Amino acid sequence: MSDLYEKLAARLGPKGFATKADALAPHLVEWRGRYSGHTPFLAMPSSTEEVADVVRMCAAAGAAITPQGGNTGLVGGQIPDGEVLLSMKRMNRIRSVDPLDDALIAEAGVVLTSVQDAAAQAGRLFPLSLASQGSATIGGLLSTNAGGVHVVRYGMMRDLVLGVEAVLADGRILEGLKTLRKDNTGYDLKQLFIGAEGTLGIITAASLKLFPRPAEHLVAVCAVESPDHALKLLHRAKAGTGALAAFELMNRMSVDVTVKNVAGMRDPFQGAPFLTLLEFESAAPSGLRAAVEGVLAEGISAGDAQDAVIAENETQARAFWALRENISAGHRPEGAQVNHDISVPVSAVPRFLASGESAIAAACPGARIVAFGHMGDGNIHYSVMQPLGADPAAFPGDALSDLVNRIAVDLGGSISAEHGIGVSRRDDFARFKDPQAIAVMRALKTALDPNRVMNPRALI
Ligand SMILES: Cc1cc2nc3c(=O)[nH]c(=O)nc-3n(C[C@H](O)[C@H](O)[C@H](O)COP(=O)(O)OP(=O)(O)OC[C@H]3O[C@@H](n4cnc5c(N)ncnc54)[C@H](O)[C@@H]3O)c2cc1C
Repeated sequence: MSDLYEKLAARLGPKGFATKADALAPHLVEWRGRYSGHTPFLAMPSSTEEVADVVRMCAAAGAAITPQGGNTGLVGGQIPDGEVLLSMKRMNRIRSVDPLDDALIAEAGVVLTSVQDAAAQAGRLFPLSLASQGSATIGGLLSTNAGGVHVVRYGMMRDLVLGVEAVLADGRILEGLKTLRKDNTGYDLKQLFIGAEGTLGIITAASLKLFPRPAEHLVAVCAVESPDHALKLLHRAKAGTGALAAFELMNRMSVDVTVKNVAGMRDPFQGAPFLTLLEFESAAPSGLRAAVEGVLAEGISAGDAQDAVIAENETQARAFWALRENISAGHRPEGAQVNHDISVPVSAVPRFLASGESAIAAACPGARIVAFGHMGDGNIHYSVMQPLGADPAAFPGDALSDLVNRIAVDLGGSISAEHGIGVSRRDDFARFKDPQAIAVMRALKTALDPNRVMNPRALI
């Protein structure tokens, strides 16, 4: 072991580091197997001071650091390629829960479900919800500015934060764990670290916003003829109930491949061109069902929806969500494909889908499109799959990807709505992001991390 690793090991103690292959292995591969890497040293600090010392020692030795939370990221930014790997998993304490301030302070390694549970025990809600919530950590969720299914009501991780404690690239600790709702004393520094993918510092803890627990919630699925109809239904459901918490779109192909490839999936409206999944929640203990039934009935009479079904119980609600949440697993076995996580203004989702369909048909006849996701936020997960039976090697994935990204950007959209840039989207980032924005980001990176200690291969 080199001098640096010996010093790190001495500082962290036997529980705080690993160098043996079997202990490193789970940290070096991303769950789909798309990214794998290597590291000479896995640091597992258990306090902010230990994180600060690790960073200071690495910076002094000129060693770069890759931070890692739950290793559920989808763009490869958490997988090291020779850097020191800094796992935040042992920083897993909830420091405080304060229902009167509607605030909770959690360390960066706390898993999202533990935050949700702690909020529930205090009679409150932490509303972020996504399929990886049993593994994704607060530090990772902040660093990727995670979204998930309730953004339409509560916003993204960025909107759910009151303060951040972070270790800077030279080892200084930035204390920012306030629980203030209002604080106009200059730049909002916590926001610098949110969505920064570990490139500006290590998030060690955060104060998070809590909300009232809904007394009632309902899930419905509707059959709709087109994305234009879905858009009308979205606004009808929002305005008519004031209780819309999720609005998800699934095209026919996304449902078909999921029912085909994932055991136990059921299609509630066979043949419908599109399905929308709606979740409603209300703080009032009664009246939600009547309001939702009213809005959906109006939607059907107006032609926004062809048909609708409201889940009768939690089991049925879960089955509706399972169909939506298994779409990624559903399309993965379908051969060569390119996947996107684009966003456009909500009103432009129908135009994006129509332009995408005609451009893909012209460029690669027979290519199949899986389009699904958080339509309520203008965020569509858009996969183009090879024609059935075609040679995967002949699939023009990169060219199709450029088409999809270009359509999104031309509609005022983004090439990455919620997954981030990491290592896998860096080329697209350079090609499609406004050069002035990239220049400002570079200036920030240089100011805060001139020696590129922090996750140097990710983002910028
Ligand atoms: C099944 C599944 C469903 C998903 N659904 C969604 C979804 O709906 N919406 C969504 O937004 N994402 C989704 N994701 C992506 C993923 O869960 C999120 O990106 C999540 O925020 C990553 O958290 P993590 O703790 O696993 O971070 P990691 O994967 O470990 O790291 C992610 C990035 O953050 C950096 N990082 C981690 N911890 C810290 C820290 N403490 N300080 C500084 N940098 C840090 C890493 O270096 C890396 O760049 C999904 C993933 C899976 C597997």
